[in-house]
Amino acid sequence: MLLRATGKYLPVRWMFFFREGLTETIGLEGTNAMLRAIPSPNRCPEGSAKDLEKSVDFSCYSAICASVTEFYGESGAMWILMSAGRTAFTRLLKMTAAMVGAEHSGFPIGSAASPFEFRMQSIVRLLGLVSDVECKCETAGDGLRFRILACPECAGRPAAGCLCHSMGGMVQAAADWFGAGSAVKTTEIRCMAQGDSQCEFSIAGAL
Ligand SMILES: [Zn+2]
Repeated sequence: MLLRATGKYLPVRWMFFFREGLTETIGLEGTNAMLRAIPSPNRCPEGSAKDLEKSVDFSCYSAICASVTEFYGESGAMWILMSAGRTAFTRLLKMTAAMVGAEHSGFPIGSAASPFEFRMQSIVRLLGLVSDVECKCETAGDGLRFRILACPECAGRPAAGCLCHSMGGMVQAAADWFGAGSAVKTTEIRCMAQGDSQCEFSIAGAL
């Protein structure tokens, strides 16, 4: 499936870590075979972990996710993408969290009513700084809602259900980063792939 360029970008570094996450989940041969199956206009440029330049179109990321789904089926892809997304974002956080003062030790929480929400807001800011991923985080009932308004995973991929599994892994990685990982459960409840206006994750057990 050839995906149209979106004009929105991720940093090369994130893609480097995402490929590492895939390799650690499905092995090097599986990753290479899956990457080779992507039509060349959607292929991601090679790069290094040092490169923070925002130059990878969202369509390169969604093409990788589509290829994983074609190779491994819906349920296989769910687990693979969640795991690779979590690994990639954890590594990205290690190298960039200081940009928004979101290092996990000593992160100032001031008098925020919900320290976890306050911390997640720093992730929203970080994503806006290092990429064109636009998101919001808000309290809803006894949990949080993490909304992605410009999503790299489902761009141009119509589907009957929610498919942003690596983004779910990213949200979970952020919760892990702030020490709440085992206490929260992240579920995608809306997705632009199925016609919703945004991709939305509920984070339960977070407040
Ligand atoms: Zn999405």
